[in-house]
Amino acid sequence: MPIYEYQCGACGHQLEKIQKMSDEPMKDCPECAKPELAKMISAGGFSLKGSGWYETDFKNSGKKEAPAPSSACGTSACPAANS
Ligand SMILES: [Zn+2]
Repeated sequence: MPIYEYQCGACGHQLEKIQKMSDEPMKDCPECAKPELAKMISAGGFSLKGSGWYETDFKNSGKKEAPAPSSACGTSACPAANS
């Protein structure tokens, strides 16, 4: 699943979002709420920089992909993994 990077043209906020190819591109900036997000071409692959992992529900059409497991997850001891 590709990761898309967006940058807000209004406030400069950047975020990364895992989306299906068929998903609508995001438009609304989670920081300033202006519809100024522009998709950036990412050559870096999977890079989580800074603090942000944004999982917004704006454009979800019902099917929800789990975000990448956090450091606490991914083991059989993780309660979320057993649900
Ligand atoms: Zn913004």
